Amino acid sequence: MSHPVVIVGASMGGLRMAEALRRFGYTGAITVIGDEPYAPYNRPPLSKEVLAETVSHEAVAFEQRDSTADVNWMFGTRVQATDLEHAVVTDVNGDVHPYSALVVATGLRSKRLTVPNGELRGRHAVRTLDDAIALRRELVPGARVVIVGAGFIGCEVAATARKLGCDVTIVAPGTHPMQRPLGTELAAEMQRRHEAQGVTFRMKTAVTDLVGTLAVDGVALDDGTTIPCDVLVEAIGSHDNTEWLEGNDLDLATGVRTTNDLRAVKSTGEVWDNVFVIGDLARFPNPIFDNECRRIEHWNIPTETAKRAAQVFTGNAQGDFRPIPSFWTDQYDNHLLAYGVLSLADEVKLIDGEISGDCVFGYYRDGDMVGVCGIGMRSVVQRYRANFV
Ligand SMILES: Cc1cc2nc3c(=O)[nH]c(=O)nc-3n(C[C@H](O)[C@H](O)[C@H](O)COP(=O)(O)OP(=O)(O)OC[C@H]3O[C@@H](n4cnc5c(N)ncnc54)[C@H](O)[C@@H]3O)c2cc1C
Repeated sequence: MSHPVVIVGASMGGLRMAEALRRFGYTGAITVIGDEPYAPYNRPPLSKEVLAETVSHEAVAFEQRDSTADVNWMFGTRVQATDLEHAVVTDVNGDVHPYSALVVATGLRSKRLTVPNGELRGRHAVRTLDDAIALRRELVPGARVVIVGAGFIGCEVAATARKLGCDVTIVAPGTHPMQRPLGTELAAEMQRRHEAQGVTFRMKTAVTDLVGTLAVDGVALDDGTTIPCDVLVEAIGSHDNTEWLEGNDLDLATGVRTTNDLRAVKSTGEVWDNVFVIGDLARFPNPIFDNECRRIEHWNIPTETAKRAAQVFTGNAQGDFRPIPSFWTDQYDNHLLAYGVLSLADEVKLIDGEISGDCVFGYYRDGDMVGVCGIGMRSVVQRYRANFV
């Protein structure tokens, strides 16, 4: 009997891969190994609507479809290593799992602050369901919440914490929140909208240490000041979960480099025919934009990459893989929707609406549109999506 397809990572990418393998006709065995104790669940609500209400697995779990009922799900099991030459992975218990094809779907984990006085209670990150459960308990009215990092997750948590009656300060090194993806004008406008909701920004500032004995009660900044703090949220980016792939001569510089067909590439340029990378970790070339390998850490990518990898594995792939990157974020009643890769732009301009209300920005590289992002005006933003097909 041939070995199963082994998918490492039992989150959105892992689930969508198992579903897509069945959809494209693969009838052999599938094993999915994930280190979290839960069946696959959806992460975006963990910083938004679910964080504002009751955080539970039922609130975020993905539907389990009949097509994957016969999959061997191994939750709470961490994969420690892989030997691509011998086509096996080894889990923390020392059990060895041979595979016919390997799917890498281990995503990211939160980066944490490194500070001298770091061993304190009250420090939080927001990546997993357990993170959100722990944070939700502390977001009580009047709590002084300091969020380090002004990216999407930091800003979403800020909006949710304000909704829950917390006192919120964001500390970050940049000039405006979400500036790298959104560009200066839209980022400045989003800062204004957060400030109008009562959020305090300490931009161009870094945390040097934490204050407190058992729990955090202050955050020391590099301008010599200290902010009082009951709840610290560290939203400063992420690390790749790729340690288990080390020693196999893969290009792990950022994510895992792949071909356009999502097959892992050795540092020599040779390709592993039976090793696929999907989701946040896949660094692949997308001919919509150019030949550069890039990773795209947006919600639509695990589904799109899983579908493509399953098509390639089952011999159903046609043409180039050209997924349109897309993200949304909800902060108060501001619903932002974007298509493309905004960070590629050398020019950003308002193309519809009013900056102080609903509006749409276009992102251009050498005069060609590489992204579009709107606050509201969903149907207008969706019309521009056609530019990337
Ligand atoms: C709080 C939050 C809010 C978000 N909001 C948005 C949004 O509004 N819009 C948007 O477009 N995107 C959003 N995203 C991003 C989106 O959720 C991710 O792009 C998506 O979850 C990536 O899925 P993945 O399966 O590739 O990786 P992950 O979801 O990271 O899953 C990887 C899984 O593999 C497990 N794992 C890691 N190492 C091992 C190992 N060695 N052995 C076994 N298992 C392992 C991990 O524990 C995890 O369960 C958000 C993400 C977060 C965290």
